[in-house]
Amino acid sequence: RVRFQNVRKSYGDTEVLKGISFDVFKGNVVALIGQSGSGKSTALRCINGLEEINGGELYVCDRALHEKDCDIAALRLQVGIVFQSYNLFPHLTVEKNITLAPRKVRRMGHKEAHELALHVLGQVGLADKANAYPEQLSGGQQQRVAIARSLAMQPELMLFDEVTSALDPQITGEVLKVIEGLARDGMTMVLVTHEMGFATAVADQIIYMRDGIVWEAGDGGLLKNPRTPELQQFIS
Ligand code: ATP
Ligand code: MG
Repeated sequence: RVRFQNVRKSYGDTEVLKGISFDVFKGNVVALIGQSGSGKSTALRCINGLEEINGGELYVCDRALHEKDCDIAALRLQVGIVFQSYNLFPHLTVEKNITLAPRKVRRMGHKEAHELALHVLGQVGLADKANAYPEQLSGGQQQRVAIARSLAMQPELMLFDEVTSALDPQITGEVLKVIEGLARDGMTMVLVTHEMGFATAVADQIIYMRDGIVWEAGDGGLLKNPRTPELQQFIS
């Protein structure tokens, strides 16, 4: 689904991705971990074309993002992204928040959009909140609506950038459970996370980034057996 091959990305004179390579296979979950500023969000944003790469090759959903004629708009319909801030429209109900894009972009009819909203709300455990407004929901519930909104576009790949960082520890778990459920359903996902226990539990591959390179990578057991002193120090 995703292949980074020696990908480079600079902001001005500063190179923040210094040639990173990794693959994300269909149905797999890849967790990006690492210190602040190591390039995790930048790497994630490259995947759906929010950032243009300056070198190397990047393939996402059979598209070559490093090629000039790559259709980024079409790519973004295949790749969902959820951030720390959920940015729901406050004046729209949960259902309207979810159906807005499918109705506009996919020209979906009213009835079909309604059924889709109920389906994705079921996936995040909020089937009873379709008519609520965002302000009537907790932070964790709002984040789950943001995930449902992304799912409503029926993406082939989902990206999550520290989606639980703004949440209280007690409600972090309910959001992580939703992501775990998506993993069980076979959704391909790349997530940036500080939740090491979660990464160990759900990730097929863990990638430790440091100073813009893939410092160490391995399966879900990586954090139990770090090879480099830098990763050892990071997780302790
Ligand atoms: P964090 O854990 O704090 O979110 P991160 O690993 O996600 O960190 P990035 O956001 O990818 O790190 O940033 C990597 C580097 O690129 C940082 O030094 C940052 O200051 C720089 N950077 C990120 N976005 C921009 C931008 N739009 N313009 C200039 N520099 C940027
Ligand atoms: Mg970040």
